Amino acid sequence: MTPAQKESITGLILAGGRSSRMAGRDKALIQFKHKRLIDHVYERLAPQVAGVIINANQNHEQYKSFGVRVVSDAIGDFAGPLAGLHAGLSVSRRPYLISVPCDSPFFPADLVERMFDALQSSSAQIAVVATGDQPHPVFSLVRRTVLDHLSDFLKGGGRKIDAWYDTLKQVQVNFSDEAWFGNINTPEELEAYEKGLPLPPKQHKPRFKRESVPPAAAVPTEHGAFLDTLIGGTAAPASSTSSGAASEPARRAMAGAHPGSSHVVAQLPHTASLEAVVSCIDGYDPNALPVSQVNQVIRAFVKPVQGYEQVAIRAALGRVLAEDVISPINVPAHDNSAMDGWALRSSDLDPAKPVTLTEIGAALAGREFSGRPGPGECVRVTTGAVMPYGCDTVIPLELVQTDGKRITLPPGQEAGANRRLAGEDLQKGKPALAAGALMRPTELGLMASLGIAEVKVRRRLRVAFFSTGDELRSVGEPLAEGQVYDSNRYTIFGMLTRLGVEIIDMGVVRDDPVALESAFRLAAAEADAVITSGGVSVGEADYTKRMMKELGDVVFWRIAMRPGRPMAFGRIAAPGGPGGAAERSAYLFGLPGNPVAVMVTFYHFVRGALLHMMGRPDLDLPLLQVKSQEAMRKKPGRTEYQRGILEKREGEMTVRITGSQGSGILRSMSEANCFVVLRHDQGSVKPGDLVDVMVMDGYA
Ligand code: AMP
Ligand code: MG
Repeated sequence: MTPAQKESITGLILAGGRSSRMAGRDKALIQFKHKRLIDHVYERLAPQVAGVIINANQNHEQYKSFGVRVVSDAIGDFAGPLAGLHAGLSVSRRPYLISVPCDSPFFPADLVERMFDALQSSSAQIAVVATGDQPHPVFSLVRRTVLDHLSDFLKGGGRKIDAWYDTLKQVQVNFSDEAWFGNINTPEELEAYEKGLPLPPKQHKPRFKRESVPPAAAVPTEHGAFLDTLIGGTAAPASSTSSGAASEPARRAMAGAHPGSSHVVAQLPHTASLEAVVSCIDGYDPNALPVSQVNQVIRAFVKPVQGYEQVAIRAALGRVLAEDVISPINVPAHDNSAMDGWALRSSDLDPAKPVTLTEIGAALAGREFSGRPGPGECVRVTTGAVMPYGCDTVIPLELVQTDGKRITLPPGQEAGANRRLAGEDLQKGKPALAAGALMRPTELGLMASLGIAEVKVRRRLRVAFFSTGDELRSVGEPLAEGQVYDSNRYTIFGMLTRLGVEIIDMGVVRDDPVALESAFRLAAAEADAVITSGGVSVGEADYTKRMMKELGDVVFWRIAMRPGRPMAFGRIAAPGGPGGAAERSAYLFGLPGNPVAVMVTFYHFVRGALLHMMGRPDLDLPLLQVKSQEAMRKKPGRTEYQRGILEKREGEMTVRITGSQGSGILRSMSEANCFVVLRHDQGSVKPGDLVDVMVMDGYA
């Protein structure tokens, strides 16, 4: 199965049952081997598919812990797995959906791959798991195109899963070990699995009819190796025992599934929840959050990315150093002359009268003088020439009178003048640059001056972004009444590019739950951070906020600022990232829709957060204080970012604001070269008052 094929499959956990044989305790939430039953199932399934949906008809809050979509049946109450399959298929937008039950925590790590291969290489509509002649119908992979057919079947009163399968073209996929599909239905079974006791006898379900499609990919694949990586042991070959005591593969699988050794948890980027972070903020009020607290929360939550590259110094331009660079040499390597002139011994200098010396040779840059000047002698030197032996002072050309090889210098010359000391630029063994340094042209030169050809830099940050809103059209499309061109994607593109991150432009996403979910998922799977614009204002009747909430750990703020009040921040999950079991997530910055608000919130919150993720220590732009040319109205209790023009008036730097300051007027940004930052507690400004100014050109 290729990564693209995996992208086409949604996993559905069927947890919509009444759990009648568990005395009504929601089975999926029962503790088993140190966690909930569904945690085991989720951890097995998520790495095998592009996204997970949970079908549950109660306790949604608890299922939301995974940050994935939780859907109820559309029909009846507790109408069985077929109703769950229908609910999952109705909201999934990927071409394939695989269902697994919430009470079977042992299924193999190549389940989806083998089911997919079988379905692909047959013309069947559904692939179903079987061990020997025993089908396991709740483990099935279906094409999304069967949805209408399933709806009709349910409308006609059909409820039995086998009966529906019999109306489809199906392929059975044979697995060698029944224990992989063992499920936990009763307290007795739970206890047996928990303690490794013999299982109580099970009633075999009736076999179901199947078409004679050959079970493609029915060669059992070895997944012991995968299980071993979970538990760090050596695999016995997968056994082919049928039920009895909880079988070897199941036991081995479960041995790895307790807190601490769980590979999934270990690979999560970090564990702090937003709730934990905001609880550390004094007087936290998401509906009137001061700007300073916004950055406090964001910077506490966001972590620098891991991953490094060794690159040639030219390729390091714009990148961030991953470690200190220790200077391997002194720069300069030797004491040398800072001027063209004569090098001499300071003991020959006289404070009171002119001194006449004899030139005994010359030292040129790159060509050392090998003689040893004695008292009364000097050496002609050019800038950069290595200081001749015993000489410590250089008298520049223009101060000296010459008469053949005799030179005379005025009295009172300073000992040690015009000499550069070895290592005065960079000292051998000391850090020349610190980890976190941005590689600018200067730093490239610095590395070259040390003879260093390559440096270790942090991997580039990947940032995905898209615009939301049904009124938006992309450049190139015609505009109908009430529509506007999407400009935010262009300002965001520009600001991100200036920051030196890798960008993933995902276009305009319709205000539609399926489109939004898939965009958020894809973004979270591909990127370290996701930036959206639009759809976060209060009273916004759209799906953006809802989807953000459903898919992740997200807070919605009304920030005490102007422009740019509403903003969402948090983290969005993308289960089953590349390379196996790790759950990937990306930081989310849900910016407001207004074009100026987007730029202001980017400059003041997102930029610093991304730099922090890049490993940079310098997160804030400097503020200057300059005189305001004019009065500015300002209410205390919020920070205002007026767009300003910094200019010299009568020899003094001053600032004035650009015309209209409406948050949709991008021209106000275009004319500006700075933000006038009117602080939270500040009131109105009078002409001549000092105000804080943040220069914007060239940054962000
Ligand atoms: P919203 O926050 O979605 O309510 O959007 C606020 C305002 O910004 C509305 O007038 C939107 O039409 C406008 N807007 C939202 N997104 C964009 C965009 N990508 N480009 C230009 N204008 C936008
Ligand atoms: Mg909108």
